[in-house]
Amino acid sequence: MAASTNAFEMAQRQFDHVAGLLKLDNSVCEMLRWPLREFHFRIPVRMDDGSLRVFNGYRVQHNDARGPNKGGIRFHPSETIDTIRALATWMTWKCAVADIPLGGGKGGVAIDPATLSVTEKERLCRGFIDQMWHNLGPRMDVPAPDVGTTPQMMGWMMDEYSKLAGAYTPGVITGKPLGGGGSLGRTEATGFGAIYAVREAMKYLGMDPKSSVAALQGFGNVSQYAAIGFREILGGKVACVSYWDRDDRTSYTVSHPDGVDPRYLMTITDQYGSISKEKARGAGYVIEDGMAWLSKDVDVLIPAALEGQITGESVGQISKRVRLLAEGANGPTTPEADEYLKQHEIFNVPDFLCNAGGVTVSYFESVQNDMNFYWTKEEVIQRLDTKMTQAFSSVLEMHTSEKVYMRDAAYMVAINRVVKAMELRGWL
Ligand code: NAD
Repeated sequence: MAASTNAFEMAQRQFDHVAGLLKLDNSVCEMLRWPLREFHFRIPVRMDDGSLRVFNGYRVQHNDARGPNKGGIRFHPSETIDTIRALATWMTWKCAVADIPLGGGKGGVAIDPATLSVTEKERLCRGFIDQMWHNLGPRMDVPAPDVGTTPQMMGWMMDEYSKLAGAYTPGVITGKPLGGGGSLGRTEATGFGAIYAVREAMKYLGMDPKSSVAALQGFGNVSQYAAIGFREILGGKVACVSYWDRDDRTSYTVSHPDGVDPRYLMTITDQYGSISKEKARGAGYVIEDGMAWLSKDVDVLIPAALEGQITGESVGQISKRVRLLAEGANGPTTPEADEYLKQHEIFNVPDFLCNAGGVTVSYFESVQNDMNFYWTKEEVIQRLDTKMTQAFSSVLEMHTSEKVYMRDAAYMVAINRVVKAMELRGWL
């Protein structure tokens, strides 16, 4: 995230704005502006060389009026409590807008996982659960993977929880590996879900997907499947993707004159979403500055890396051709950039609607865990499409009936649902 952007302040500003539109009572705002619960803890980990390192861990539970808290665990070197608070808050709105019966949570550890060995990562994952397990559970709080965490890590965490709880409890965590309680379709879920939202937005805007070109930021889980979906589901072209290069400590945009082939690029990308520059160049790809993706002459922009990427300073670089901005990442656009998008009539599919596919299939995963009965990939993807299409349609209806910006419309749908659940439970 840009050093000057505090994600939680941004999440609160977005909320305050919509609370004003909805004329929410002050006491209701007090309930929703801040998380209900926060956990700050230290995780001691024995390193391979015998030394002991202590990591800072966080878990934030924003609001569980609609169901157990739900949200990923992030391993990232610049993780802060405010980023986690923001992400937990957005999870509340995301589950509500997707109309799944879950609340908002998020966790994280300030660490670059690429600096740890496999055994150190396993001990860190188990250590996170050792500190938090009393406050996690299928009916309390259900974590999942996020930036820097993988299905294998979720498998270790589920195992640690099951040992401590004394019972196999796959529903305590989602995004687990296949064969270890995971759901088919979870890997594709967020990227494909974003593409279903893009498809619906294109229908509304009268855009032809087959003649559309997209530029993506990031090349991790979300971006990889969004790029595949843009080509294979919509029939469009992907001009570029981008990634963070750990060796050079900078980001790069990777493009190809004929459009990128995400399936090929995945074969030269590591598990953290870093592409091999040398191999890409060898295959005719062009490597440019990390922010070059934003100024490409395209119809659709899909930021799918980190928060705070499209700011008041950078938003002016967007090409006049761009009609649609679909936020695969959480919080990629600052409020200043939003003003520019409104003025220039760039249609926005806001983050917690656009990337709700991940939590939707996570929810399907815990439903399958509870039933101990697993669906086919086709069933999962079909149900995902139905949920994303319904979610997009409820936000679009609010956007057109109330004549508000799409982000505000998504907030209005989500906040109304959370407030109603709090009223029905007698919290208000
Ligand atoms: P990931 O770790 O798999 O990939 C992140 C990608 O972003 C990598 O390719 C990395 O190199 C790149 N990146 C990092 N910093 C960058 C920079 N400054 N410029 C360009 N690229 C950069 O993460 P992910 O799971 O794909 O998540 C991406 C975003 O989507 C995050 O905001 C995350 O919170 C959000 N999200 C993820 C899911 C999910 O299911 N994975 C669900 C909802 C939202």
